[in-house]
Amino acid sequence: MKPDIILFGPQGSGKGTQAEKLVSAFGYRVIGTGGLMREYAKHRDKFGKTIKRIIERGELVPDETIGRIFSEELTKIGTADPIVFDGFPRNLNQARLLDQLATRAERPLPLAVYLQLPRGEVFKRLASRYVCADCGTLFQSLPGPLKKLVCPKCGREVEMRKDDRPEIIETRLNLFYSQTYPLVSHYQKLGRLKEINGQATIDHVHAAIVAALGLAK
Ligand code: AMP
Repeated sequence: MKPDIILFGPQGSGKGTQAEKLVSAFGYRVIGTGGLMREYAKHRDKFGKTIKRIIERGELVPDETIGRIFSEELTKIGTADPIVFDGFPRNLNQARLLDQLATRAERPLPLAVYLQLPRGEVFKRLASRYVCADCGTLFQSLPGPLKKLVCPKCGREVEMRKDDRPEIIETRLNLFYSQTYPLVSHYQKLGRLKEINGQATIDHVHAAIVAALGLAK
């Protein structure tokens, strides 16, 4: 059985892209809490509006809320396939919850892959990142004016994520370093950490993850 994997790293470090590659190469399932939250934010009810506001400010959804939604997703997936966790856990509290939920679901404790990316590179990458408002695909483009850039998957016009604006990135990155970065030493102490250079090309990062985790087809 392939290990469950927590992919974490600063915004723009390629978690979503690498999660997709693990899906196509090894049949992983993904629980991506950022994408889930963006779906909830489309709902016009009170809950959806609250989530939308939190995301647009670059803040974090309260642990209790995200924990409940995460737990529901884990139950839906069942135990047949290995899972990549993208965007969860975001802090120590969530990391402890994930281990409890995994144990309860009779899953092995996940290994944590930290994608390293320098702060300056984060700003550069997010400034050229676009999202399809329709299918939610995130992709990177060359910097420059956004004129009729279309989604490679569904052909709709794309836009920038509202929370990729520089002032919001600042908030999100500060939260990353204060809340999420401590997970590096947490998983290191538990002997479950693999650190990967996130600055390499997509294929090199994928190969490094495969090698670090000993994944074989
Ligand atoms: P992401 O696409 O992973 O950057 O997530 C987008 C937004 O969703 C974040 O800025 C948070 O507002 C929210 N979010 C996603 N995952 C979590 C989490 N594990 N804990 C709290 N908030 C989250």
